[in-house]
Amino acid sequence: MPGETHFLSATEIAHAVGGRALSAVEVAQAHLARIAREDGALGCWLRVDEAGALAQAEAVDRAVARGDHLPLAGVPVGLKDLFVTEGLETTAGSRILAGWIPPYDGTAVARLRRAGAVILGKLNMDEFAMGSSNENSAYGPVHNPWDPTRVPGGSSGGSAAAVAAGLCALSLGTDTGGSIRQPASLCGVVGIKPTYGRVSRHGVIAFASSLDQVGPLGRTALDCALALEALAGHDPLDATSIDAPVPRYTDACREPVEGLRVGVPESFFCAAGLDAQVGALVRAAIGKLESLGARVVPIELPNAEHSLATYYLIAPAECSSNLARYDGVRYGLRVPSGDLGQMYKATRAAGFGPEVKRRIMLGTYALRTGYYDAYYLRAQKVRALIKRDFDRAFEACDVIATPTSPVAAWQLGERTIEGCGDPLAMYLADIYTISCNLAGLPGLSVPCGFVDGKLPVGLQLLGPPLGEANVLRVAAGYQRATDWHTRHPASTVGGAA
Ligand code: GLN
Repeated sequence: MPGETHFLSATEIAHAVGGRALSAVEVAQAHLARIAREDGALGCWLRVDEAGALAQAEAVDRAVARGDHLPLAGVPVGLKDLFVTEGLETTAGSRILAGWIPPYDGTAVARLRRAGAVILGKLNMDEFAMGSSNENSAYGPVHNPWDPTRVPGGSSGGSAAAVAAGLCALSLGTDTGGSIRQPASLCGVVGIKPTYGRVSRHGVIAFASSLDQVGPLGRTALDCALALEALAGHDPLDATSIDAPVPRYTDACREPVEGLRVGVPESFFCAAGLDAQVGALVRAAIGKLESLGARVVPIELPNAEHSLATYYLIAPAECSSNLARYDGVRYGLRVPSGDLGQMYKATRAAGFGPEVKRRIMLGTYALRTGYYDAYYLRAQKVRALIKRDFDRAFEACDVIATPTSPVAAWQLGERTIEGCGDPLAMYLADIYTISCNLAGLPGLSVPCGFVDGKLPVGLQLLGPPLGEANVLRVAAGYQRATDWHTRHPASTVGGAA
């Protein structure tokens, strides 16, 4: 049944391949064929590694035949192009890295492979993960599968859109200020940003090192739990990696929601930019959790309103330091040997895009002698207050529920500088996601309805440090009681998919 595997869950695929009801090769072939057919209209994939995927799938089938247990046996996965992959070009969505073939796999990628996942290729993204719409990619935008005239969100736009369109069962994204949760919300899939340090950042191209975190996107919370079990855990190659046991997240997903306390910050629903339909759907989702036996408690996060300002000092400051390494000499250029003049010309031509330049300038300015105390240091102090608010809130609740994004997917071009002249318009898309990164907490987005019956909306669930299990448990319980995630966008090319 190769043509029919693309909306199976990762859990179902792993079960079928592990039980030899399906082969990893036929699952990979079906997905590769679907990508070839559908992705022209979507632009999710920057690179499809057909030969590599089929070779991995064959190896998985052989291992299964030998009796190996592989938790992600044959699950087709896409990787945001921020993950370095041995022998496979990795660009971070930037021209400055075009042609760079990394000599190794990062930890997250190696762990997925070891668990039996089949990596289909690399997914489009905003350049160096800076953006909320995927329009900052040097390789063109991604189109939202629910309405190709609209953005998929960002920066992990390809990762969310590919899962929504059935081009892979799982994907990896990164989340510095919302880049997993916000595109998951706009594309109607589940995405989880774990606690800072829960998943290794080794082999992930850095944006803002104190905020970046790796996480999976899938169509169900259970699939994300399955992936996170493979991804999480201590890694000596990442100095910020947490050395704590990895719970059985998939078991947590099967536990009832009953008895959990869900904190609701009322101020989040009063924000000026919140679309009325989005607010109503998120409130209805919280009502659903209550009907499942959760107890709703009001909480306050008084400093959350400073999140955006705090983030847009800290993230640019850290990126200006991280991106200083791309001098165009050691990274990313295929230059005819020995021709220095050519090399310098290529460096300039292949430079950073406008948003990345804007961030580097902002960050460099904020870190200058004499400005450091007024900007970076002060932002770090506000960050501590934001974190303290969460610590207090989690004394009264187990998870916090809010909207993920104030609006559903907007039209391509609507919030770009060229489209509206205001860089802040795009930044406001992350108003609900950023405080979680500043505090280092786990956060997830789960589909909770559609605006105008056609554009997906996400419910955001936040947990205390290392509280992924309860966040996944609530999301999985919600999905058992609702059917939003069982709807799929119409095939972009029409006809049977
Ligand atoms: N949209 C935010 C930004 O542009 C967050 C990006 C991210 O999480 N990588 O910085």
